[in-house]
Amino acid sequence: MQTYDVVIVGGGVIGASVAWHLAMGGCTRVLVLDAAPGPGMGSTGKATGGFRVQFGSEPNVRLSLLAWEKLLRFPVEVGLDPGYRPCGYLFLTEREETLAGLLHAQAMQRRLGVLAARPVTVDEALQINPAVAAEGLVGGVYCPTDGFARPMEILRGYTEGARRMGVRFEYGAAVRGMAARDGRVAAVRTDRGEVGAGAVVNAAGAWAGKVAAMAGVDIPVHPLRRQVAVTEPFAGLPECMPLTILVEAEFHLRVRDGRVVMLWSHQPNPADPFDTTFDEAWLPQVTARAHRWIPSLRDARVDRAACVAGLYEMSPDRHVLLGAAPGVENLFLANGSSGHGVMHSPALGQLLSEIILDGAATSMDVHPLRPSRFAEGQPNAAPEFL
Ligand SMILES: Cc1cc2nc3c(=O)[nH]c(=O)nc-3n(C[C@H](O)[C@H](O)[C@H](O)COP(=O)(O)OP(=O)(O)OC[C@H]3O[C@@H](n4cnc5c(N)ncnc54)[C@H](O)[C@@H]3O)c2cc1C
Repeated sequence: MQTYDVVIVGGGVIGASVAWHLAMGGCTRVLVLDAAPGPGMGSTGKATGGFRVQFGSEPNVRLSLLAWEKLLRFPVEVGLDPGYRPCGYLFLTEREETLAGLLHAQAMQRRLGVLAARPVTVDEALQINPAVAAEGLVGGVYCPTDGFARPMEILRGYTEGARRMGVRFEYGAAVRGMAARDGRVAAVRTDRGEVGAGAVVNAAGAWAGKVAAMAGVDIPVHPLRRQVAVTEPFAGLPECMPLTILVEAEFHLRVRDGRVVMLWSHQPNPADPFDTTFDEAWLPQVTARAHRWIPSLRDARVDRAACVAGLYEMSPDRHVLLGAAPGVENLFLANGSSGHGVMHSPALGQLLSEIILDGAATSMDVHPLRPSRFAEGQPNAAPEFL
């Protein structure tokens, strides 16, 4: 039986980042197994590419700050452009109470060093994004260093970089089971046979609960369908328009490659939570919000073929579970980023490789992200607005 120091289940952006960081740390006997026939066919390829530090909790802001530094260094360290573009994130609200919450979060962000984040009046918001119909708004918050990155380029950078250092990636290799005893995983089983593992990383995104269960571990990570409406090429909004969020409408949009990308609320399929079929009935609801808030979009046409549905990997407190799985000392989790996994992937790969190779994360305090927090009754409690 072939044996690796680390077997990573899932070759999406998080699995690839963990692989790259392990290899950079000198651990190159690493195997990445992915059930899909090629890279990026889980949630990573569906992500819209938003990047922000404007979060409601300290751990998420710290993860974003670490990821931001790493995205800035990515061209030099990893060897390609991850597409980071500081076009900004503009949160807008119709309620004073929500505004107070956004400003409270912003005070925390500024305390952690995000000095570019600032409150905006409605008039200032209109200068930042003149396309918005401001009626009913009371204000918002803005951070110009938030913006965009290219999920598939981050994935490509980490995958190709890890490969160059000797990491092996196998696609079409679904992990079906694990040999676990005495609190350790000894091997993982695929249709091609068993592979011995010194350690196993669960990087299976929305499917992480199923993979953890193979080692007898129950983790609270569940899929949530998220749909994206995409217009035909539309010249009416600038490419570097800030990602604009209407908080109460649960609607946000950006421009990507000349098309407008619009999201509204979550769209679970109760019959099959892993379903990624696009639900047509949802489209009129998202376009109604688009027309209300961005009137120029009345001239844009939705390109049905470009619309997609994917899965968020939700945890109960919408923070990642990072570290060793409770009860299985060599099974490591990087699961439950709750729709923020691409932007946090550079940080998560670094932190998990520190945990695996050095026994503890040194780049930031990951105690609030420990997988055991739910069983201990200590989930993170900060509100999020997106
Ligand atoms: C519509 C949409 C928009 C999003 N927008 C953003 C955004 O703007 N910014 C952001 O940061 N995040 C965004 N996200 C979230 C982001 O896509 C995820 O957080 C991120 O991709 C998670 O990365 P991952 O590597 O854990 O998961 P994935 O990319 O899903 O990778 C997991 C991999 O595990 C594999 N796998 C599963 N089970 C097994 C098994 N048994 N054996 C082997 N392999 C297995 C799958 O094939 C898959 O390739 C969005 C998600 C969606 C759906």
